[in-house]
Parts: sequence; structure tokens; C-alpha cells
Amino acid sequence: MSLPAAFPSPSSQRRPAILIVDDAPDALGVLRTMMAQQGYQTFVATTGERAISIAERVRPDLILLDVVMPGLDGFDTCRKLKQHPLTDAIPVIFMSERSDTDDIVAGFDIGAADYIGKPLRMAEVCARVRAQLQMRGTSEAQKEQADRLRLIVNAMDEGLMVIEANGRIQYSNPACERYLGYGHAELTGLPIADLLGGSLAQEYLDYFASCLANPHDVPLAGAREVLIRDRDGALRAMDLTVTPMIAEETLFVGLLHDITHHKRSETALQQAALVDSLTQIANRRRFDSFLEQEWHRAIRSGLPLSLVVLDVDHFKLYNDTLGHAAGDLCLQKVAAALQSRALRATDLAARYGGEEFVLLFAETTLAAATVLGESIRALVESLQLPHPRSPTSPWLTASIGVATMAPTQFDRIEQFFVAADRMMYAAKEAGRNRVMAIEQAGPAWDSAVSLMI
Ligand code: GH3
Ligand code: MG
Ligand code: MG
Repeated sequence: MSLPAAFPSPSSQRRPAILIVDDAPDALGVLRTMMAQQGYQTFVATTGERAISIAERVRPDLILLDVVMPGLDGFDTCRKLKQHPLTDAIPVIFMSERSDTDDIVAGFDIGAADYIGKPLRMAEVCARVRAQLQMRGTSEAQKEQADRLRLIVNAMDEGLMVIEANGRIQYSNPACERYLGYGHAELTGLPIADLLGGSLAQEYLDYFASCLANPHDVPLAGAREVLIRDRDGALRAMDLTVTPMIAEETLFVGLLHDITHHKRSETALQQAALVDSLTQIANRRRFDSFLEQEWHRAIRSGLPLSLVVLDVDHFKLYNDTLGHAAGDLCLQKVAAALQSRALRATDLAARYGGEEFVLLFAETTLAAATVLGESIRALVESLQLPHPRSPTSPWLTASIGVATMAPTQFDRIEQFFVAADRMMYAAKEAGRNRVMAIEQAGPAWDSAVSLMI
């Protein structure tokens, strides 16, 4: 992965510093002059102890270290440098008259980067120093880039997984572990089937295989919404984007974006769209779709369906007398009364608009629906909500129309609604605060039943 130019490499911008260690002052002087001529910043030490303390302080980019010195010799000095975290990464080049293979091997074993035989040939020293500095520069730049990438991957809010072609997770970042409730590195080695379930995991495994088979023309998997099982077994909605990294070992990067909260608000919005905001019972949209569903079920079952339409009596007058806010409160109480009569899963009470409410009772005969309508009427009246100027009652009341029908495929829902509405208006005309019911079988209006209170 190459890093964008936005990441400069600071180590390449300053003069390299070289620490030269030799107990012979003449040799030291020559080397120092030579290194300074090459443009390097130089530090010198004539003992191992001094070399260590300078190295810890200035942290040079390279150390030229004489092997044979009184006191702490070059090997011991190097060992100490390699044991200290401040100096362990500094490349050390040994310089020695002792150029037996054993000596050279011992030097490399201690951690030397290079070994130069004495007497020194200055051109060779310069070339070896240059080569080491270049290598160090490259590896430092790579380390810096890797550190930065690690920072980004650790801090990012998206989950990141590196997946092997066999479907096992090789790496996951903290966001990924957080989303899925796993501890640090707990996801490592898990098969993706544990997260995605067998069939979805198989789809990805097939995709991985096709990428391996045809690395020069990999299809893009793109982003898709998936359900991922977290550590507790709960399913979470996530957007998953999988991208192949074609290299010596082809791996796949999975990016996870948690959309559970979107889903939650989506569901909340969908629910809000079906509820009447004033009364908190179902709204017209919800009722219409429920009626449609029950209508088709009734056609299949041949069982009767009952529709109750309720309209508050003299409600305009109520508002005019007691104010709109009092009117709103009334509608809430009426709605609660209706809701209390819609008890089965196949019953639904809804505010259909203004001061008009509807109820649907599936698998309910005309007789049973009429009893229900009457109980609703009585319940509204029993609320004893004062309606001082009503010409028909001291309390708030409602007029109710009931229609019952065992629909066939030749009937239409509108016809059913019209029947119940007409019954409600008939109840109004007959004096309000009453229930009128009809068995609707085709246009047979004459079977209307009126329950006068
Ligand atoms: P009727 O007995 O014939 O039904 O008379 P009514 O006054 O109830 O009939 P009408 O349809 O003329 O009036 C309905 C009133 O309902 C008019 C309107 O101000 C009131 N209304 C409709 N929606 C609301 C509401 O959300 N809140 C309040 N407070 N009043 C509403
Ligand atoms: Mg009314
Ligand atoms: Mg009305």
C-alpha cells in the first residue's frame, strides 16, 4: 500500500548524525573529517562508556564503532546499545583489525549492521555508511507510515477487518471489535461464517475464490446491507464493503458501517407514519392497509367482517363553546374508549379524520358488531364529558354506523365503507347518540336494523 504524499517523512529532511567511536585519536580525527566532508553531523567518543552516553543523548542515525578498545570494548558497547530502548534501533558498523570470519559473525550476532576491516579504505567506509543510512531512512519512513496508518485504523469510526481468502479474519480494528462486542484480538482467526451466517459467508467465499482465480480482473463486491451476529448472538444491521487487496497473499478488506441506529429511526419513522399524533391510535393510512388485508382474508375465509364508523355529535358546537384545546382532549378520550374495545389482534381502532373514528372487527357477525357498537356508544356517553350547548344531550355523545359483510371477489371495499357511513348518517338523522347497523349483501339496503336508544 503506498502512502499519499500528504505524509512527509521528517527523517529525510535533516543532516544525518554519525557517532564515531575509536580509542585512537588519530583514526578518530581522520574519520571525523571524512564524515564531515560527506555532509554528516559528527559526534566522537574515545571509550565505550562515553559512546553509550552520547548515543542516548543525541540518538545518532549511525554509529561507527571500533571493536578493540580498552575498558568496554566494541562488542560490549554494542550489546549495551542494543539493550536500551533509546538506542537499540541505531545501526552499528564495527571497525576492526580482527577480520576473521568468527569475529565478523560474532559482530553480526550482537546486532551489528555491518563490519569493516582495518586498515580502513575511506571510499569503502563512505559507501557502507551511505548504504546503511539509506536503508535506515527507508525503514524509518516505512515505520512512520505504518505508525500513521495504525493510528488511523485504530481511531476510525468504521469497523475494518482483514479477511483471508479462506474466510478467516486476520485482523480487526477497535471499532470493529466495539461494534460486535468482541475484546481485543478476539475476532482474529474467526471464520466470517460466525458473523454472517453460512449462506452469506459462502457468497463471500465464492467471491474470494473468483478473485484468486482471476486476479487481473476482479469484480467489485461493493457495499451491501447485511445482518451481522455480534458476540451475544444479536443481529445488527451493517453496511459491509469488501475490497480485494491483490498481492503476494491476496487478502480482503471488509469495512463495516453500523446502521443499526438508522434502522431504528427508520422503523420509528415508519411507525410514526401509521399513528395519529393527537390520539396515538392508528391513523387512516394504517387503517386502510389493515382493512385491505382483512378484506382479502375475509374473501378467502368467507367469514363476516364488521366495520364501525363513529362521528362525535355536535362537535363544532363543542369547540365553539369550550375551545379547540378542550375539543382535542375530548378526541383523545374518545380514542382511548374506542381502543379499549379493539381487543383482538384482528380488531383495529383508528382516527379516520377530524372527529370521525373507525373500527374493524374481523370474523364478527352483525349481531356481535352491533353489540360492540352499542357498548362503544354507551362508553363514550358514560365519560360524561359536559357539552353544555348540545341540543341532544348534556354530555358529549357519538353517532355510530355499523356494516357487516362477508365479502366476495366481486365486492369492493368502498361499497362497505359507504354502507357503514350511511348508517352513521342515519343515526345522526334519527336523533344522534345511537347505533344503526346493516348487513351488507350486495345493494340490499332494506335489511337495515336500527337500535334506538
Ligand atoms: P354532527 O353532530 O352533525 O357531527 O355535528 P358536528 O359539529 O360534529 O359536525 P361537523 O362535521 O360540522 O363538525 C366537525 C367539527 O370537528 C369541526 C371541527 O372544528 C372539529 N374538529 C375536527 N378535527 C378536530 C380536531 O383535531 N380538534 C378539534 N378540537 N376539533 C376538531
Ligand atoms: Mg360530528
Ligand atoms: Mg364530522
